[in-house]
Amino acid sequence: MKDIDRDDFHKRAQELIKARNIFIPHVTKNITIAWDLYQEMLAEEKMAPRLMSDIDGRQPRTILDDLGRLSCLKCDSEMSLREIDKGKYRSQWECLKCGAVRKSKKTVEQWIQKLMKRNLALRKP
Ligand SMILES: [Zn+2]
Repeated sequence: MKDIDRDDFHKRAQELIKARNIFIPHVTKNITIAWDLYQEMLAEEKMAPRLMSDIDGRQPRTILDDLGRLSCLKCDSEMSLREIDKGKYRSQWECLKCGAVRKSKKTVEQWIQKLMKRNLALRKP
C-alpha cells in the first residue's frame, strides 16, 4: 500500500509540474488557476491518468487526439509524439503508419501548448 501511495504522490507532483509547464506564464501566472485549468482540461478529455501516455506511443488515445496531431508528410496519417533527448532535439513525431520521423526542438509540453493555442484560436467566433 505504501508503494501505491508513494506512486500516487509522485504522479500528483508530476501532474502539477505539467500544469505549470502548460499554463505558466503563457495563460496565467497563478499556480492555483493553472491547476484548475489543468483539472478542467483533464476532465474534459476524460483521461487524467493517461495524459502523457502518448509520449511512449503505447496508448492509442491521448490528449493529442483531441488537440489534433500533426499529419505525416509522406502518407498523411496521424503521427505520434514522443519525448526524446538527442542533441538539440527534444521531441519527435512518428508516423503511426509508415514510421516516418520528424524531429523537433520543441519539448512535448511546448507542442501541447502550441496545439492548445491553435485549438483556442479555432474556437473563437
Ligand atoms: Zn506516414
